[in-house]
Amino acid sequence: MSNEMINFLSTLISYPSISSNPNNSQDSKNLANFIIDSYTNLGFKMELIDNLIEGKNPLIFGKFGDDPNKKTIMFYSHYDVQPASIQDGWDTEPFDLIEKSDGYVYARGASDDKGPITATYFAMKELLETTSDIPVNIAILYEGEEESSSHGFEKTVYKNKSYFSDIDGILILDTSWFTDHRPSLDYGLRGLTYMAINVSGPNKDQHSGLVGGTIREPMSDLISILSKLIDSDGNVQVDGFYDDVLPLSDAENELYDEIDFNINDYVSYLGRNSLFQQNSKTTLMNMWRNPSLSIHGIQGAFSGSGSKTVVPASVTGKVSMRLVPNQDPKTISEIFIAYVNKIVENMNTPNSISVEPIGLGEWWYGDVNNFLFESAKSAIENYWGKEPNYVRSGGSIPIIPFMEKTFNAPAIGLPVGQSSDGAHSQNERLRIENLVGAKHVIINLLNEISNLN
Ligand code: MN
Ligand code: MN
Repeated sequence: MSNEMINFLSTLISYPSISSNPNNSQDSKNLANFIIDSYTNLGFKMELIDNLIEGKNPLIFGKFGDDPNKKTIMFYSHYDVQPASIQDGWDTEPFDLIEKSDGYVYARGASDDKGPITATYFAMKELLETTSDIPVNIAILYEGEEESSSHGFEKTVYKNKSYFSDIDGILILDTSWFTDHRPSLDYGLRGLTYMAINVSGPNKDQHSGLVGGTIREPMSDLISILSKLIDSDGNVQVDGFYDDVLPLSDAENELYDEIDFNINDYVSYLGRNSLFQQNSKTTLMNMWRNPSLSIHGIQGAFSGSGSKTVVPASVTGKVSMRLVPNQDPKTISEIFIAYVNKIVENMNTPNSISVEPIGLGEWWYGDVNNFLFESAKSAIENYWGKEPNYVRSGGSIPIIPFMEKTFNAPAIGLPVGQSSDGAHSQNERLRIENLVGAKHVIINLLNEISNLN
């Protein structure tokens, strides 16, 4: 069976479905059609759905079964991949899958997300071959633009959502285990509010030898604002910033005790111990369940080498905040603007200062006690013989909260690969044991869910 799975994965890999390169859009479409044909041969009803943004890769919708007495479970993955070429430093051709003696297959997309698609397909195939049925109704929702900000996803899914009826749960197969040797389940992601602070002074750039000492410089004003956003202990200074953060419950607190996370490994990854807290658990909480603020850059500022004596006429500071339940990204942008305006009032500056949001994303927070998590936990214990780690991530995937709202159903992250797979990197890989294991976990999971009825 594993040979058959590797052959299938190898075919998926052979289509260079790089969504960021328009030259690959035919490859992406060909891959989408291959996936559609494969599921159609299993008896699925499949459809290629045009992306509402012209020129962007199509989505794949599919279903199997419409028994009203069964739950309906949706599978999400993406069939597009990050760019890759052997010149980037790969040991082998990235779009030729190669199996090595270390138990891994190597190729672009092996872990992210063509392995997960392969595991899902073979779970369905095996269920149909051994029992002639699937114990729940299945919905398939694959996209081809995830590696390019999911262009058109929300619009296109929203418009076509009536294709699916009554989704009970959404499985997200698009992450990897938190460590290499223990399976995990994902239950949360942080949201995002990204702000731009612009300070404009003279109508064009000036020379410090000419105007220096005569004017209030925009850059000094901006630095003065940026310096008041966060203190040296990492506390965000924006008034009301922490008001809506959910307090830590005992149950959530306990989840952190189980995580395989070693602060020394983290420090060696960073190359310097610059941690706010010298403790694994609180560091993990700072990464996953507490909000943060980062200053990313200053547009318009001199940033080259040498000693250019420019006085920039206009500078824009870029700041983002990672958000957690129940912070609302829009409310955070409003209180951020109010806070900066308050600083500006006290600065008494002749420069003009404006603040605006340039990106908002919702957080996601799953309930680890709902039927999806309970069933997935048993499914994993049955196959792997160990309890999963319950993992949140500091990053943001806005389509997950979008799908939960659109289909009015809870989601769960069911990772396939390992943390060391190197998704997006050279020599991306997937352990064959994980590929085969994911197939079994999916089969177990669907059986567990059907037994709930
Ligand atoms: Mn990716
Ligand atoms: Mn991915």
